Amino acid sequence: MNWMERDQNAIMSTYQRLPIAVEKGEGNYLYDTEGKAYLDLFTGLAVNLLGHSHPYLLKKLGEQSEKFLHISNIFLNQPAIELAERMIEQSIPGKVFFANSGAEATEAAVKLVHKWKKEQKEEKRGIVVLEKSFHGRTLGVVKLTRQPGIYQDFPAADYPVFETVPEDLEQLESVMVKEKPAAFLAEPILGSGGITPLSTDFLQGAEALCRKHNVLFCIDEIQTGIGRTGTFFAYQQAGVIPDMILFAKGIGGGLPLGGIIAGDKLKNKFAPGDHGTTFGPSPLSAALGNAVMDVLFEQNGLKEGRQRADYFRQQLEGLQLELKTEIEEIRGLGMMLGVKLDADAEKVKSIQEALLHRGFMVNIAQQTIIRLLPPLTLQKEEADSFIQAFKEELISRRQEASV
Ligand SMILES: *Cc1c(COP(=O)(O)O)cnc(C)c1O
Repeated sequence: MNWMERDQNAIMSTYQRLPIAVEKGEGNYLYDTEGKAYLDLFTGLAVNLLGHSHPYLLKKLGEQSEKFLHISNIFLNQPAIELAERMIEQSIPGKVFFANSGAEATEAAVKLVHKWKKEQKEEKRGIVVLEKSFHGRTLGVVKLTRQPGIYQDFPAADYPVFETVPEDLEQLESVMVKEKPAAFLAEPILGSGGITPLSTDFLQGAEALCRKHNVLFCIDEIQTGIGRTGTFFAYQQAGVIPDMILFAKGIGGGLPLGGIIAGDKLKNKFAPGDHGTTFGPSPLSAALGNAVMDVLFEQNGLKEGRQRADYFRQQLEGLQLELKTEIEEIRGLGMMLGVKLDADAEKVKSIQEALLHRGFMVNIAQQTIIRLLPPLTLQKEEADSFIQAFKEELISRRQEASV
């Protein structure tokens, strides 16, 4: 049996897998067991922010692994304390709770909202989220993920969830007035919902409505955070100040790590026993988190990543202009981009497969959007080589269509 068959036999089928057995990752490339190289424009779904086998990250991982792998939350966890301080310094005054994944970050957020809610004088109930949001898949939070096929079929935790469409402040306010929610939760750029950025007007308006109606203003930066969009967190570009920030994906440098940063209203609401996790955070993950922070802030990684993202976007926009019709829209920020194609789902899938065959790994969101989550370390030549291949694939399909 080959690896694909063994996978199907032994592992539950919760993902549609590409038939590629990755042997190693180096820099911005993945290599399969045949030695074929793939430029990784997907980065393990926004995790490998600095590419693969980053020498500095590996060095820091090695140093920590020689000290201890795990100690439990009974002891002071020095790498975690240091990382929390640094994340607070780069965002809002407050305190951090560390977990091991994005969904666990949302779980902690929901429990914290619940603790806050019980202390309000007025009645408060539930959480408002946006249509096509994604906030995790565990039973406690799956209802917050408003995508067909994800949340409807399972028994979920019993708290009200209210859905509103993005960009509609009137609708948001009427939900706040009518339902008296405790919190508003949104991704600054809806990720799996289609790389849809929320406008600054909407984010600022939502923040103002939250203040007016005593609703917690919570931002899910699990995908957008840690420099991916050009600033440490994406909300920072809209000039808003959240009461709570959810993070995961990029911060662990490839290891599982997630959590929340809770501002002044929330930071002291958990008491011992209210919440916890054995592993969160693994000292290894926290040490890698500190290494990621070093690269971003002490080794110029954030600034250079932003410049590389600007270059990549310019090239994509150039391609859009040159082709005129194939690319309907390019959206997103920094190294989180969606290229909406004027093509049906089948054609977009065939483009993804052709690109993969040529050694470029891209993802698809909402069927017709090529989702690009390149590493902040993407080099000019790498961006250029992708643009060239993408252009050729789009043009070759144009010729097919006109024959
Ligand atoms: C990926 C993601 C999650 C869930 O994270 P997991 O680590 O997969 O549980 C939640 N919210 C957003 C915005 C995400 O992109």
